[in-house]
Amino acid sequence: MVKQVLIVGAGPTGMVLALQLKRLGVDATVIDSRLAAGSGSKALSVNPASLDILDDLGVTEQLLARGKQNQSVNLIYEGQRLFKLDFKQLNSRFAYFLMLPQPDTEAALQARMAETGCEVARGTALVDLHQQGDQVQVTLSRDGQVYKETYDYVVGCDGARSRTRELLKLPFSGYDYDMHFVLADVKVRWNRDTSQSYYMVSEDGFFILLPLTEGYHRIVIKVSGAFDPKQTIDFDLIQAYLQRLDPDLEIFEPSWISSAPFYNRETSQFRRGNVFICGDACHLFSPIGGFGMNTGIGDAYNLAWKLAQVAKGEAPEVLLDSYDAERRQNAKSLLRLTDKNTSLIARLDRHSADDEALFTPKQKNRPFIRQFVQAAAGYQLDYAATGSAKGVGRIYLPLDLQGYRHQGTGYTLFASDAACAERLAQQVAYSGEQAQIQVCQRETVAHQFDPEAECVLVRPDKIIAFSGNERQCSRFLNDTLLLAESA
Ligand SMILES: Cc1cc2nc3c(=O)[nH]c(=O)nc-3n(C[C@H](O)[C@H](O)[C@H](O)COP(=O)(O)OP(=O)(O)OC[C@H]3O[C@@H](n4cnc5c(N)ncnc54)[C@H](O)[C@@H]3O)c2cc1C
Repeated sequence: MVKQVLIVGAGPTGMVLALQLKRLGVDATVIDSRLAAGSGSKALSVNPASLDILDDLGVTEQLLARGKQNQSVNLIYEGQRLFKLDFKQLNSRFAYFLMLPQPDTEAALQARMAETGCEVARGTALVDLHQQGDQVQVTLSRDGQVYKETYDYVVGCDGARSRTRELLKLPFSGYDYDMHFVLADVKVRWNRDTSQSYYMVSEDGFFILLPLTEGYHRIVIKVSGAFDPKQTIDFDLIQAYLQRLDPDLEIFEPSWISSAPFYNRETSQFRRGNVFICGDACHLFSPIGGFGMNTGIGDAYNLAWKLAQVAKGEAPEVLLDSYDAERRQNAKSLLRLTDKNTSLIARLDRHSADDEALFTPKQKNRPFIRQFVQAAAGYQLDYAATGSAKGVGRIYLPLDLQGYRHQGTGYTLFASDAACAERLAQQVAYSGEQAQIQVCQRETVAHQFDPEAECVLVRPDKIIAFSGNERQCSRFLNDTLLLAESA
């Protein structure tokens, strides 16, 4: 019998988790305290790694029809261009950021939920939870009624003020920066190419300009020091802030205005017993770099296949431990990177002299630029344990992407030789199912971390589980099968 899963929260993170679990044969119950999806523009950029994931879930095509592809980000310091990040260089089917307001991304996810029969019980809130043995008893409220239900697993995807995190008594340590930002979706007239993105930095402050669809742009302006978050932000105020930073940029026809603090927070565990937390519930990023929503999508995709295999009795419980280990370490390194970049751009004192060198002429910044493009794209994941083979724990991006389309429904074995693939296929009865076997060109099997690879085994979440030659692969598969049989 398949174990019962409750997902608390139907934001982007909760919906990605529900969709992937459903594909893998687990019908989770999804609740959300709100009666309707959120309407705030919020997260804007869907990065290449998220586009890969959403493509696997059948959502990206809809997003592409609505969003704007953005391949270039400029950093301008005191009027001089320091560097341009160019996403065209990425080895990806989606070598760009897709600029799309969060409600549109959520609408596409909701449409896919409806198509695939995933329902959300709206107006239903998690109030309390207790773990007893292997079960989690939750107290829910709906229409003023309070009632109890029991699940095998609960996943809190309930955002920054997560009730799940609070009930687990997990800290949310970190800090708020001493600054706020005001943001608005506006039309613009400017003497620069407005099809690209800009980080405009000076010692007096900064603003960010990002292209949207239908002639709109998102503008984000830093407000330092004393700022009353309850004060009304109107368009005149935004114009006044902007006037001080760049009088040449004209903004008009605002469609959305908001303000938010800058923060950097993380919790100490992403799992306690049979309760997990994902997305904003376990990490909060400063908006520099656009990691918030994208990291939540990555959390959900990492957890879903593991939870599905364990819930169906196809893998041992221990597989779930890797969710906390992998995603917490990933969030930590992204929080460090975002903190450094926020400090540089907001001219704070949280970065080192070496980091400050990034604000020098562009030739010196090449390694930083290459690395930052990968990180921003979501491709710099590294789950490898010390001593792992080349590429293990990284995202599989074959050197020749022709014909490659990831399918997150099981492991995929890539081999360049048909006879070798046949021999290995006989070993790959992971949990009674056949993994997909792809016999392809040697150039396709090889990847950026191991150009010599003869066989590559890729996890359902697109992470390289094994890379090497046939003999090593055979040994690895034996070990993996033994692990599966002990479930
Ligand atoms: C002003 C602003 C601008 C932003 N800009 C960016 C950006 O440019 N780029 C970026 O990547 N990110 C940005 N973010 C962050 C991004 O919006 C979040 O990272 C993203 O929404 C996180 O998704 P989530 O599903 O984890 O949480 P949420 O979207 O917060 O969803 C949580 C869901 O849980 C539900 N819920 C809460 N409590 C309960 C409960 N007790 N019971 C049941 N349901 C509950 C809520 O109703 C909600 O639907 C921005 C955020 C803000 C506020």
